[in-house]
Amino acid sequence: MSGPKVPTAQIVAIGTELVLGRIQDTNSFWLSQQLSDLGADVRRITVLPDVLDEVIPVLQGAAEAGTDFVVITGGLGPTPDDLTVEALATWLGETTYQEPSLLEDYMRRRQVGADGLSDGMRKMATVPESAIVWASPAGWAPCIQINRDRTAFFVLPGPPREMEALFDRYVATAISESLEVKSAARRVFVNMSESEVSPFIEEAMAQLPGLYAKAYVALRTDTHMPVDFVARAGSDRDARRLLSDAVDRFSADVKALGKDIHY
Ligand code: AMP
Ligand code: MG
Repeated sequence: MSGPKVPTAQIVAIGTELVLGRIQDTNSFWLSQQLSDLGADVRRITVLPDVLDEVIPVLQGAAEAGTDFVVITGGLGPTPDDLTVEALATWLGETTYQEPSLLEDYMRRRQVGADGLSDGMRKMATVPESAIVWASPAGWAPCIQINRDRTAFFVLPGPPREMEALFDRYVATAISESLEVKSAARRVFVNMSESEVSPFIEEAMAQLPGLYAKAYVALRTDTHMPVDFVARAGSDRDARRLLSDAVDRFSADVKALGKDIHY
C-alpha cells in the first residue's frame, strides 16, 4: 500500500533585514503551518537578502526540483531595495508592466488621478508580463502568481498581516483546489523519554503510509513530552481515520509500557 502523491512546496523569505537578524522571519513559520495543513509537503525554507544574484538561483532551483508550489514573501514594497519582481522578471526573461486594475484601485482608494500616483505606488503595481495579479484586502502590494513549467510561484508582500490576508484569500484556495491530498494533525503528551518513544514512532510511520510523527524533545516539560502526528490522505475522512488509527495504536503501545498519555 502506498499513500497518495503529496505535492511539494518551498517557502522563500526575502529581505535583507531578515538575514541581518533585525526582523525575525515569522512569515515562513506561519506559512509552513498553513501549507502543511493544506496537505503540501514543505521541502525547504530559504531566507535571502534583497540581492538579485541570491534570489534568481533559488527560483531556478525550486523550478528544477519540480516543486509544485513556491510561496515567496517580501521585496514587494515601494522602495528601491525591494526587487523581488525584478528578480522574477529577469529569471523568466520577461518584461514588466504596471497592472491597470491595481493603478485604478490605488487611485480610487487614495482619491487621486493618475498624476497623483507616486513612483512607489507605481512600483507596487509593476508585475511580470505573465503574472496573475490579486489586489490586497489589507495593504497596497498585491499577490502575484506565476506559473512556470509545473511550478506555481505565489509572491506575497512581507508585512505579516498583509501576507496572511492574501494567503488566506487567494493562495490557500488556489492550492486546495488543485490538491488531491488532505491533512489532519494532532499533538499528544507522554511521560516518556525520547529513546522510549522513538521505536513506537518509527514503527507507526513504517506501518501507516501517509503518516508523519515526531517527538519534540526541545519542548519537553519536567514530566511530559509532546508528540505530533500528521496524517495525509486522499480525503478529509481518510486523513482523519489515518490520524485516529495512528494515535490509537501509539496510545496502546504507551499504555502497554505502563506509561501515561494525554491529549
Ligand atoms: P516588504 O516591503 O514586502 O519587503 O516587507 C516589508 C516589511 O515586512 C519588512 O520591513 C518587515 O518588517 C516585514 N517582513 C518582511 N519579511 C518578513 C518575514 N519573513 N517575517 C516577518 N516579517 C517580515
Ligand atoms: Mg523588503
